[in-house]
Amino acid sequence: MAWRALTKKAFSTTYLSNCGAAITASHSLHATLPDVLLSSRVDLLTASRNLRSCWGIRNYHASVSLLSWRGRKAEEAPGLKTLGREKRVKRENKPHAPPVEAPYVPPKLKRQAKPTQEKTVEIFEGMTLIELAKRIGSSVKALQEILTSVGEKIGSEFDPITLDVAELVSMEVGVNVKRLHSEEGAILKPRPPVVTVMGHVDHGKTSLLDALRKTSVAAKEAGGITQHLGAFVVSMPSGASITFLDTPGHAAFTAMRARGAAVTDIVTLVVAADDGVMPQTLEAMSHAREANVPVVVAINKCDKTGADPERVRIQLGSEGLSLEDLGGDVQVVEISALKGTGLDKLEEALLLQAELMDLKARVDGPAQAYVVEARVDRGRGPLVTAIVKSGTLSVGQYVVVGAEWGRIRAIRDTAGRPAKLAGPATPVEIEGMRGLPMAGDDITVVGSEERARMLSQGRRKKLERERLERMSQENLDITAGEGDEADEVPQRVEVAVVVKGDVQGTVQAVADSLRSLNSPQVFVNIVHMGVGPISQSDMDKAQACNACIVGFNIRSPPSPISLSAKQANIKIFLHRVIYHLLEEMGKLIVERAPGTAETQVTGEAEVLSIFEVKSRKSKGPDVKIAGCRITDGRFTRTATMRLLRSGEVVFEGSCASLKREKQDVEAVGKGSECGLVIQDCQDFKVGDVIQCLEQVIRKPKFISSESGAVRIEC
Ligand code: GDP
Repeated sequence: MAWRALTKKAFSTTYLSNCGAAITASHSLHATLPDVLLSSRVDLLTASRNLRSCWGIRNYHASVSLLSWRGRKAEEAPGLKTLGREKRVKRENKPHAPPVEAPYVPPKLKRQAKPTQEKTVEIFEGMTLIELAKRIGSSVKALQEILTSVGEKIGSEFDPITLDVAELVSMEVGVNVKRLHSEEGAILKPRPPVVTVMGHVDHGKTSLLDALRKTSVAAKEAGGITQHLGAFVVSMPSGASITFLDTPGHAAFTAMRARGAAVTDIVTLVVAADDGVMPQTLEAMSHAREANVPVVVAINKCDKTGADPERVRIQLGSEGLSLEDLGGDVQVVEISALKGTGLDKLEEALLLQAELMDLKARVDGPAQAYVVEARVDRGRGPLVTAIVKSGTLSVGQYVVVGAEWGRIRAIRDTAGRPAKLAGPATPVEIEGMRGLPMAGDDITVVGSEERARMLSQGRRKKLERERLERMSQENLDITAGEGDEADEVPQRVEVAVVVKGDVQGTVQAVADSLRSLNSPQVFVNIVHMGVGPISQSDMDKAQACNACIVGFNIRSPPSPISLSAKQANIKIFLHRVIYHLLEEMGKLIVERAPGTAETQVTGEAEVLSIFEVKSRKSKGPDVKIAGCRITDGRFTRTATMRLLRSGEVVFEGSCASLKREKQDVEAVGKGSECGLVIQDCQDFKVGDVIQCLEQVIRKPKFISSESGAVRIEC
């Protein structure tokens, strides 16, 4: 689930023993913090300190020894640091003299280890409070206190509790849950495979999906027009069917694809026969491997004159894919998405793979489903494309989806026909959600509206807690890293962004990609995300936060909005290709970054002779002038000079005089001779080397790798 997949840090175990009181404290905190947090970095830090003091539970443990023990523990616990100690260590290790070798490289920020993965416990219907306490690692009393505080009644710790109550308690404690649905006694029936198409950009993923979509029953029945649901079903003459996920194929949408992998049974790896294995082909292979999902290779563009499927086979084999032709179990099919050839063979291969996997699902009972895509329709409200993993979704059921809830008002199939039920592996669109969930969220059926509200509220609170924790942790990390090196590491500036996109999954993926541009110098703060065109309210938010607006896959805003954006000096970036968007945002971030002051050797000279002149002051020492030739770069009058003898620094000082043929000059270039006086330096020798040192501001760089991954390097 996406809400679980977010980077999180569990409450410290200290929380467990104090949860009753702590919950009250943290809840009141949530009510007031979010708005404060958005406003500025300073507020954030203050808030983070509040959080630490709140979650550190200092209020409830007055003993000095206990506090000091907690301090030590906090240092060991992920994410909770004692800054003072770290600072002391840094001061001791700080080098006294600058390195002899130029250029000077500022010390790298020492970042704390990231918090370890949050605990996840398995819960099941009818478990007792004792069992839950054991799994969470908490006391029964603490869990009972939580139950009382959320208004749930329980007889004794041996009484069975429902899955929903178990999840609610776990969430309050701060651990993730995995709901176990007992398949015991249930009738399992074969279900269609869910397939994701992956591969390198331009290898024909979209073309293949388009071609397959045309062969789908829905397309035939609806006269070739299907609604875009993020998934479609292809039915075979044999009666078997395959569900294809219509996921965006670009590499920067890795996050979304990774979420999609939770529902994917088989990956179709598209490789262009004329291009062969490329970085994103390898990336797709590793995604499939990590998700333990089998691959069926579709060698595309076989109609092209330069097509060489054999070469692709050899390349894939050498990348570790054990192809069927070479005695392995990965099927390879040659196709042309453009001409529509080989598609039937690909479908057969996918069905064969599914048969080998013996895909079965429980049809009866409450559904377990996932969100593939979510969008808002003006008339119908939030619409969610879901794929049922097991069980059956039906109209009228109360569902909790991620942190949102609703009552299923209508179910529609991919052809837009209303249905009463949705069985396993069938993509359907459900209507009736109160809010917009995220792609990858799980759909849980609950018994009543009250339950749905309660669970959604609990999940929202947990998400908010995690968001605040993450934000404060990030800022603490940066502050801790700055520590003693404050004069060397520049201030971190913030680039606030409002993200708008066509569907929820895209918005999430764009926001995730933008966050990957975070750096010690620039903090990309997503102040608002939403689905749909850029509205006046987005403009207001952007103006309030001094943010720019990023629109992905949406049309240009109407002229009044564009005009007011111009007047308010709000930048709007509209893109349809994620890489172009990241490139433009990367440029903006680099521009806004304060940069790092760096000493650079801008020139080097050799001392050829030494002259001595009388000081203008009557009692002052004679002034030594080094007669030099500039061997590299250029020397400037305002720079600092470094005198080197046999590679060792013997003196460093400011330039007191720079002359060329008895004329004072501001700069001397390579190959020229000049007379140079370094302030207070009397120790020149013929053969010495003088370096000219200048302070420059080095800006971070926008780096993009071949695989499409981007980052800002400071
Ligand atoms: P994606 O980026 O992987 O989704 O690739 P697209 O489906 O957008 O295809 C990229 C380009 O390859 C388009 O110009 C397609 O027309 C072309 N293309 C896709 N499949 C084939 C094919 O089977 N044969 C030929 N000749 N061109 C193809």
